[in-house]
Amino acid sequence: MVSQAFPEEDVEYIKTMAEHIRLSSQVFMKAAEGIVVTDSRQRILTFNDAFAAISGYAPEEIIGATPLILKSNLNNPSLYQNIDDSLCKTGRWQGEIWCRRKSGDLRLVWLTLNAVEDGSGAVANYIGMFSDITAARENQQRVAFLATHDDLTGLPNRTLFLDRLRQTIARNERSGGKFSLLFVDLDNFKVVNDSLGHAAGDALLVEIAARLRQCVRAMDSVARFGGDEFVLLIDDTSLAAAEAAAGRIAASLAVPLTVSGQDIHPSASIGICLFPSDGGDPETLLKNADVAMYHAKGQGKNTYRRFTRQFHQAAAERLKMEAGLRRAIDNGNLLLHFQPQVELAGGRVAGVEALVRWLHPDDGLIPPNRFIPLAEQIGLIDRLGEWVADAACRQMADWLDAGIEIPRIAINVSAAQFRRGHPVGVLQRLLGKYNLKPDRVMIEITESVLLEEAGDIKRMLREAKSIGISISIDDFGSGFSSLSYLRRFPIDELKIDRSFVADAAASSDDRAIIQAIIAMARVLGIAVVAEGIETREQSSILHDLGCRTGQGYLFGRPMSANDLVKLPLLAGGGASLTMAGRSPAPPQLAAG
Ligand code: C2E
Ligand code: MG
Ligand code: MG
Repeated sequence: MVSQAFPEEDVEYIKTMAEHIRLSSQVFMKAAEGIVVTDSRQRILTFNDAFAAISGYAPEEIIGATPLILKSNLNNPSLYQNIDDSLCKTGRWQGEIWCRRKSGDLRLVWLTLNAVEDGSGAVANYIGMFSDITAARENQQRVAFLATHDDLTGLPNRTLFLDRLRQTIARNERSGGKFSLLFVDLDNFKVVNDSLGHAAGDALLVEIAARLRQCVRAMDSVARFGGDEFVLLIDDTSLAAAEAAAGRIAASLAVPLTVSGQDIHPSASIGICLFPSDGGDPETLLKNADVAMYHAKGQGKNTYRRFTRQFHQAAAERLKMEAGLRRAIDNGNLLLHFQPQVELAGGRVAGVEALVRWLHPDDGLIPPNRFIPLAEQIGLIDRLGEWVADAACRQMADWLDAGIEIPRIAINVSAAQFRRGHPVGVLQRLLGKYNLKPDRVMIEITESVLLEEAGDIKRMLREAKSIGISISIDDFGSGFSSLSYLRRFPIDELKIDRSFVADAAASSDDRAIIQAIIAMARVLGIAVVAEGIETREQSSILHDLGCRTGQGYLFGRPMSANDLVKLPLLAGGGASLTMAGRSPAPPQLAAG
């Protein structure tokens, strides 16, 4: 027994030492870092669990081997010599080193080596500590990658692309070279996303990214700018080469693919712009490529356009027009003209159509076809539509107050208005505001409104009907002219498109179509108005075919409310404004 061979205090000391050694050995064995101890010739004497795990070797394979069993070709060949030199000179070395595990896979390790001297100052042992930093480095690299790449497609993002673009500009400025930018925007991507879901949209984007990469050389850049926008930088190109690349992209995208069980036929609109002729800095080049892309979209998509200076003018004009239209709506620089609708037999005024105009401070009266589509695109159509409805109802109330009997006012309402708002609700409110009976107003919609999928539109039309507002189909015959919707919707009137009326005298086919429309409407109890009557001949043909009401330049162009009430009688079947006896005739009224 120890206690009998040693004095009491030595026993205590030995116990403490034994505990100390036990603890140290625990720390050594359980340390997260791999630790090896070698002899002076670097043969491994002992090692811990973490080292065994890093190396992948069995204990019997490690003992007696040198740490060179972990040697990897990934390291610079001079590294091992540097380590030996440093150990020799300072007794220490620290740094990153790639280690090959027994399985062959590679780990990046932070290695600390220390020489341990014996009492005489000679090296007795080396201690090596290995920290596996592979995962930490991968994370670091991933973070750096994500900062410069698009997560979904792995393509460079805007930041990295701009960096490359700046470098390419600088290089080409020095060499006098040229390159091109292609702005690629997928057509109808929103439809895929909305109808098949985001997962399908993502899958499509990944595929498109891969195809775009294949269309260019490795030295060129393809980036995703977000959404369905991609930008390509093709170095060292002429216009012809850039156009050839656009052609290759179009052909590559045109190959159909299946996403979520649906066949998709992708296509894109592409804008091309060249350095240095179309711009000398990243912002200008990207903007101009974008403008060119926008024009390609306008040309019916699936096409490419090269940037030209005229695009700039068009874009600037559009911006000016947008700002002007906003101001016009705010300041009430809009006005309504009214075109009479007359009974073909007898010339009594059956109603008027309200047609909006923009009173431009410089350009005068601008017709609706030039600003209604713009108002729809930029989301102003609701406010514009409300202004029209209010002005039309107010005018009708004024006429009634003045004793001028105009049976009805027709207000045009576009599909976008139904999609974005509740035009019927607006009208109902205005009927109350101006104390008008609902049969005084009619809404004119085009056939396209009836083809809209949204269930809300059908509901709104039925609501109009239930309130007592009648509904007319404008430009009938120019669209799909499906008979089935005439039965399904509460339609009161059809307006025969003016293209049929224009050719009625010359074309027996057009007369036959008009006759068929009138016959069909009669069966369904729907009234018919012929639009665009310009001649007496057209008027009498329409009358003979059974049409009761007409509208057109023959009876009066769209005109101001003042001019409308001054409308002179037209000889032979012309319009007349009948006075109702509510109040004395205004002096300017040339009624007959
Ligand atoms: P629309 O509803 O079919 O209106 C008839 C258009 O034909 C008017 O053009 C009118 O001036 C023109 N017109 C009338 N009679 C004749 C004729 O005998 N011969 C010829 N060649 N043309 C004739 P406008 O005023 O330029 O309106 C064009 C279109 O703008 C309208 O077509 C309508 O779709 C739209 N619009 C007009 N006002 C509004 C409005 O307040 N809201 C909405 N959403 N659209 C409107
Ligand atoms: Mg109309
Ligand atoms: Mg029309």
